[in-house]
Amino acid sequence: MGLWLSEAQLRLRDEVRKMMLERVAPQAAETDEKGEFPWEVKELFAASGLFRLVVQPEYGGTDGLLSTLCVAIEEVSRVCGASSMILGNQSLGASPLVLWGSEAQKKKYLPKVASGECLASFALTEANAGSDVAAVQTRAVLDGGSYSISGSKIFITHGNIADLLVVFAKVDAGGKDKLTAFLVERGTPGLSTGKLEKKMGLKGSSTAEIIFDQVRVPGENIVGKIGDGFRIALDCLDKGRVMVGAMATGLAQGALDAALAFARDAVSDGVPLAGSQAVQFTLADMETVIQASRSLTQAAAVKYDRKEEGYIKFSAMSKLFASDMVMDVTSKAADLLGDYGYSRDYPVERMMRDAKIFAIFEGTNQIQRLVIARELLGK
Ligand SMILES: Cc1cc2nc3c(=O)[nH]c(=O)nc-3n(C[C@H](O)[C@H](O)[C@H](O)COP(=O)(O)OP(=O)(O)OC[C@H]3O[C@@H](n4cnc5c(N)ncnc54)[C@H](O)[C@@H]3O)c2cc1C
Repeated sequence: MGLWLSEAQLRLRDEVRKMMLERVAPQAAETDEKGEFPWEVKELFAASGLFRLVVQPEYGGTDGLLSTLCVAIEEVSRVCGASSMILGNQSLGASPLVLWGSEAQKKKYLPKVASGECLASFALTEANAGSDVAAVQTRAVLDGGSYSISGSKIFITHGNIADLLVVFAKVDAGGKDKLTAFLVERGTPGLSTGKLEKKMGLKGSSTAEIIFDQVRVPGENIVGKIGDGFRIALDCLDKGRVMVGAMATGLAQGALDAALAFARDAVSDGVPLAGSQAVQFTLADMETVIQASRSLTQAAAVKYDRKEEGYIKFSAMSKLFASDMVMDVTSKAADLLGDYGYSRDYPVERMMRDAKIFAIFEGTNQIQRLVIARELLGK
């Protein structure tokens, strides 16, 4: 039993670690180079049951615990940041259903999410609505028993390939705009993909603009009730931020793995790199902050699972700490590798580019500070 993890979770960690080293690590550089979604990794996750970690046991999932999912996410990210987005985004996209879906919605979609037959995406951000969720302009209008959705979303992870999108749109209810979450299936007329982002990192994870031109969905596709959208979005992000903590921790561990391997092998001025005290101090600092990040993230995940007091603050703190930590650790790893830290022949260059995103998405780190301060000071 670990400090925060059970024997079963530690066993899962070891199994996923082995599978990632054997099956995902060898293609991580190619995924980055090609900038294409790694479908074979998605199929591996489906076949090995990793997507089952995303949903509750009643709908084909495993234990339904965020702490278990984060164990797997960390191990995937350790070898390939883009591949960790497949698992993390499947959870974020399905979270509105997992947390707020009706029984009928859960029965219809979650078994397919668990098997990997259905990829889910979370479509909230717009050109003028990133940190300010209330500024969403996409609208859903009741028209003859169904809703017609028009507007656009930007920077939606896997928005171009997801089978199911959870779309946040405003509905006019008695003269007031109410943010509401809708389920939109791929193939619905009026739904199309716009610009695909060319990104600094996570290149194997597509990021798309999604356009809604009078996309019709039945009222039964509303998640929760009209006006629940804001709370649904925040609930899902509270969960998602812990996953970002796990991704950032895993990626930093991958950079440390690479730095350790290099320090053991390389010789500088006739002296083994690992023999230099300056290098040893750098490695020691990296290990210390990674362990601190892992502890905070695992604590946040377990508190989330137990809905313990302070879980929202822990979620924001794990993302804030881990995302700043991974930038520092990957940069230190690049320094340690010297020229090779800047070369695509080694994974650290990719990891440093991948690392930047964690301070930006699912609420920037400024927003995490606002959340933490609000929780500290009272609302
Ligand atoms: C690779 C990638 C994948 C993404 N995937 C998704 C996805 O799947 N689904 C989705 O809905 N979105 C997604 N996003 C969008 C992402 O969540 C937003 O980009 C993020 O929330 C920041 O929003 P913004 O870019 O509009 O920044 P803005 O809100 O415009 O902020 C700009 C700057 O101002 C600061 N700022 C803003 N408000 C405040 C404030 N009140 N106090 C202090 N500082 C503030 C911010 O911290 C930031 O530094 C993704 C983004 C990227 C880059």
